[in-house]
Amino acid sequence: MPVKAKKRLGQHFLRDRSYLIRIAEAASLRPEDVVLEIGPGEGDLTELLLERAGRVIAVEIDPELVALLRSRFQGEDRLALIQGDVLKLDLTSLLSEHLSVGSKAKVVANIPYYITSPIIEKLIESRRVLGECVLTVQREVARRICAVPGSKEYGSLTVLVQYFADVELLFDIPPGAFRPRPKVTSSVVRISFRERPRVEVKDEGFFFRVVRAAFGQRRKMIKNALRSLGLADEAIRSAMERAGISLEERAESLTLEQLSRLADELFVSHA
Ligand code: SAM
Repeated sequence: MPVKAKKRLGQHFLRDRSYLIRIAEAASLRPEDVVLEIGPGEGDLTELLLERAGRVIAVEIDPELVALLRSRFQGEDRLALIQGDVLKLDLTSLLSEHLSVGSKAKVVANIPYYITSPIIEKLIESRRVLGECVLTVQREVARRICAVPGSKEYGSLTVLVQYFADVELLFDIPPGAFRPRPKVTSSVVRISFRERPRVEVKDEGFFFRVVRAAFGQRRKMIKNALRSLGLADEAIRSAMERAGISLEERAESLTLEQLSRLADELFVSHA
């Protein structure tokens, strides 16, 4: 018996099997793979993942769905079903229990949209044990993750994800493929964590403070937006000059390399 969807938990079940197959295929799963699924729902994607991977760790918050999944996958010992809030779990230790030394887990998930950003941050935090992630998110978020400098979608989420991972926009899924229908179109993105960040910076924490300040007031010229860091105008101006960035520039036109150079120059004047 299908469960009545709870909108407050972001429950929009993907019913169109052709999209479920495309998602499962996008992760290029092999029998030795360990997969983390966030929000398995009624288990349609879980079933396809179990057909392709060695082990699936599925985290579902809704006890009613967990009960349904337990009966659907009774006797399936390659599935570890965890009832809980994915944001509260220590994913690194959870996944390490199932991984052989040196290997990484994959993530495949149609994530609940009310917590998209916290989930992405959580995955970044757990990147030491993660390889490739195939995520279904709101199209607008997917565009921000995969944006290029100079586009209107380019912002701090782009920089955060692309600093740690290679990204690829795979395909869109229309609202009609889900029950109940979400209000927005969805997109599937591949986020592949890199062994090393894309650029080297002197201080990662400071780099992200600069990025947040720069994009926090994206319509302002960067030299004005950076004032929120509490640095003197002169220090900002000379750091920009040393980094080879024009004083009229706005954050949205700066590449990751330029942002890292700027943060390093500011770090020198800040330290
Ligand atoms: N995977 C299913 C599918 O493709 O049809 C369901 C996807 S639905 C968009 C999101 C799922 O995430 C729901 O089953 C919901 O109950 C679950 N969920 C919501 N918040 C969660 C949380 N904090 N931790 C774990 N699961 C959560």
